Amino acid sequence: MEYFLREIEGKQAHDPLFMNNYNKSSSSSSSFSSSSSSTVWVHGPVIVGAGPSGLAAAACLRDKSVPSVILERSNCIASPWQLKTYDRLRLHLPKQFCELPFMGFPSHFPNYPSKQQFVQYLENYAESFGIRPRFNETVQHAEFDGKLGLWRVKSVDKVGKTTEYMCRWLIVATGENAEAVVPDIEGVEEFGAPIKHTSLYKSGEEFRGKRVLVVGCGNSGMEVCLDLCNHNATPSLVVRDTVHVLPREMLGKSTFGLSMWLLKWLPMRLVDRFLLMVSWLLLGDTSHLGLDRPRLGPLELKNLSGKTPVLDVGTLAKIKGGDIKVRPAIKRLKRHTVEFVDGRTENYDAIILATGYKSNVPYWLKEEDMFSKKDGYPRRPFPNGRKGRNGLYAVGFTKKGLLGASMDAKRIAEDIEQCWETGANHRTTLAPSHLPQPNS
Ligand SMILES: Cc1cc2nc3c(=O)[nH]c(=O)nc-3n(C[C@H](O)[C@H](O)[C@H](O)COP(=O)(O)OP(=O)(O)OC[C@H]3O[C@@H](n4cnc5c(N)ncnc54)[C@H](O)[C@@H]3O)c2cc1C
Repeated sequence: MEYFLREIEGKQAHDPLFMNNYNKSSSSSSSFSSSSSSTVWVHGPVIVGAGPSGLAAAACLRDKSVPSVILERSNCIASPWQLKTYDRLRLHLPKQFCELPFMGFPSHFPNYPSKQQFVQYLENYAESFGIRPRFNETVQHAEFDGKLGLWRVKSVDKVGKTTEYMCRWLIVATGENAEAVVPDIEGVEEFGAPIKHTSLYKSGEEFRGKRVLVVGCGNSGMEVCLDLCNHNATPSLVVRDTVHVLPREMLGKSTFGLSMWLLKWLPMRLVDRFLLMVSWLLLGDTSHLGLDRPRLGPLELKNLSGKTPVLDVGTLAKIKGGDIKVRPAIKRLKRHTVEFVDGRTENYDAIILATGYKSNVPYWLKEEDMFSKKDGYPRRPFPNGRKGRNGLYAVGFTKKGLLGASMDAKRIAEDIEQCWETGANHRTTLAPSHLPQPNS
């Protein structure tokens, strides 16, 4: 190990970016050896993902004078927001609950900023903290090298060039929504009309005058239905599971804010009862519309399973008015036809899958302890899921939105700062000037 570091130090003296082809001399595991790949030593943590979580982690580290490098697979920050969301999207929660550490939203932004405003906020955030991610670098493999005591993080760029980053700390910030979930539906190949996931849906404009089946009744599915109505399409909504629909605002306050406030004084079950009672007064009995409520209350369910209640922004009125039809699960598809499990068949011109997203961590992180292979989330529940072994961290996997990500980012930076200060040998062997585009 000591020999290895000395060798790095010697090479570094002649290479400001400190990128090498040293594979032959290192004792690397076979999965990493590639004659064309370059190697980069990172002085500080590598953060995978330049969404809000990755940016928050980099800013908190910078606040502690710890440099970091962010690797991002797309060509921009917050790529899901910029590239994979519909035009009418706004933050679901009021802006004060969506701030990243050290920087609030501008006061002239509305209570629920549009996605363009949120992206603008994130761009300003990155700029303010000097965060410059390395774009178009998809992390395909990351593994701890026990012999070196370092993480080896391998990325590939658009032209297929691979780079291996060596670092002492690895922060996973690839998000809970990294890959679209597309269900297997019998007869998909027979349907013969567009079927697209919400990550590809932009606006109802392209469906004007068409019959569209939206599958999934979370916040996205509900909002896409409303958008389709507003563009004179005729949507139906597949509702397979029970769902809590709550008004976005209650008693002049945001439902989320009110819940947080009540939870300071009351047990969760009581707050749930209150939320359900006010929802019933404002929205009526949703089960009459085909939207049965789960047995557990909205907050308890969120806490136990991570399932988010739908905050209604007008869809329910359209369902009540008959503009949106509620349908049960799909049995199978035929040509331009959907057969439902209750035996009914209907014709549709398109299907939108609002079937959610999943983590992609198991595909690239070769680690068994911290992350579950099954769902790609940390095994240990909040707040203990953010720290693994050998300098591995996770930010943004709490199912608690941007608030949870900010909490993670702060704690992770505090943790790494302690090791940084207590004399890791990075200071003597490697100088910050040799970093590739550090975030500091
Ligand atoms: C429609 C929608 C609305 C939401 N509204 C709110 C809200 O109002 N308030 C709230 O608190 N939360 C909200 N959330 C939840 C959550 O806060 C957001 O999804 C947020 O973007 C999560 O940030 P993140 O950085 O953890 O993940 P992401 O924003 O998903 O960013 C992860 C980044 O990692 C990159 N990446 C993934 N894999 C790799 C790889 N292998 N190599 C390199 N890069 C990779 C991705 O390209 C992406 O840029 C919403 C979510 C959705 C889907």
